[in-house]
Amino acid sequence: MKKCKLVIVIMVLLIIWGTWVNYQPHRQEEIIAGEGVTEVSQLSDYYPDLAGSNGDTKIYTLKGEDEGGTAVILGGSHANEIAGVIASINVVESGQVEAGRVMVIPHANASAITNRKPLQGDPWRITLDPEDPDSRHIRYGSRYTHPLDQWPTPEEYTHVSGELDFPGTEGRNLNRVHPGQSSGTLTEQISYALFALLEEEEVDMVFDLHEAGVDSNLPNHIITHPESIYLGSEVYLDMEFAGYSFHLEQSNMDFRGLSHREMGEKTEAYAILSETANPYQGNYFIDSSPEAIMSGEEPGYQRIIAERNVIPAKEDLAMNNRVAAQLMIINQSIKQLGSFYPEKEINFNFPEPEEVRDKGVVEFLN
Ligand SMILES: [Zn+2]
Repeated sequence: MKKCKLVIVIMVLLIIWGTWVNYQPHRQEEIIAGEGVTEVSQLSDYYPDLAGSNGDTKIYTLKGEDEGGTAVILGGSHANEIAGVIASINVVESGQVEAGRVMVIPHANASAITNRKPLQGDPWRITLDPEDPDSRHIRYGSRYTHPLDQWPTPEEYTHVSGELDFPGTEGRNLNRVHPGQSSGTLTEQISYALFALLEEEEVDMVFDLHEAGVDSNLPNHIITHPESIYLGSEVYLDMEFAGYSFHLEQSNMDFRGLSHREMGEKTEAYAILSETANPYQGNYFIDSSPEAIMSGEEPGYQRIIAERNVIPAKEDLAMNNRVAAQLMIINQSIKQLGSFYPEKEINFNFPEPEEVRDKGVVEFLN
C-alpha cells in the first residue's frame, strides 16, 4: 500500500514537472510598460481575424503631448535576432515621447518566439545579468513561425506577387511574405495586419530590427528602400561620426517579400532595416553559456573575426553594444525625419546608445 502511494506521488510530481516544461516555450514574455507608454493595444485591432491566434501581439504606444510624426519599431520579426527584441523592450520600459508618437511591437512574429531551431544547441532564453541569480531572462525564439501554427509546410512557397518562389519553410518567415494577404497563412496575416497598421496610423517611419550570423555578409548593415536612401545615408554618416562602423545598402527590387522593399513601396513610411551581429545564428559557435552570450566572447566567432579582420569587430558581438547600435539607428533616423520634415518631428527621450554600452541593457528595464 505504501509503495502504491509513493508511485502515485511520483507520477503526480512528474505530471506537474512535465506540464511546467511544456509550458515554458509557450509562455508570454513579461514586458513591464514604462511611464512613457500611453496605450497598449493588439495587432489584431488592425485585422480582427488574428485575435486569439498565436500571431496576435501587443503594441505599446508612446504618445507625446505635442503633435508630430509617427514611427513604428518592429522587434522580433525573427525571434532569435535578440538585440532588436531587447532594444524595443528598452524603449517600451524606459522611453519617453514629448512630441509625436512611437509604436513598438517587441515581438512582431509572436508565434516564432515559441519555436526553436532543432539540433543546433540554440539558447532558449537570454540571461541579462549572468552574475545575478534573480536576473531577468528574455525569450530566444526562431526565425520561423511555429510549424504547428502553420501546418503543413509545403515544398515551395510562392510570394503573393507570384514573382518569386522560395523553399517552403520561407512561407513561415515574416520577412519573406510581406505584404502578406488577409486570407493567407498565419505569417501572411501577421504581415497583412502590419501593413494595415502602417496605413491606418499614417506612419512616417518604420524600423525592422534584425541580426545576422557573423559568418554571413549582413552584420552591421542598414538597408533601406531606394526612396529612403538619402535619409539612410545621413544616418550612416551620423553613425560613422559616433564610432559605429556600418554598411548602407538599398533594397534589391527583384527580391520580393522583405520589409524594407515592400513597406517602402506600398506605404508612405521611410522603411529601414537594421542588422547587428549575433554569433548564435551561425553554425560555428562553441560556447552558449549565459556569460558568453552577453559578453560576445564566443570563441568560435572571435576566431573567425580575428582571422578576417573585417566588420564586425570583436566588440560588436557584445550584447550591450549590439543593442546600443540598434538604438543608435533608431535615434539618428528619427532625428533625421524631424530635420527633413519639421512637422513630423518626434521629440523623444530613448535610452542613449552610449549609456547602454557603458551601463548595460539591464539599466533600462523595469
Ligand atoms: Zn532577420
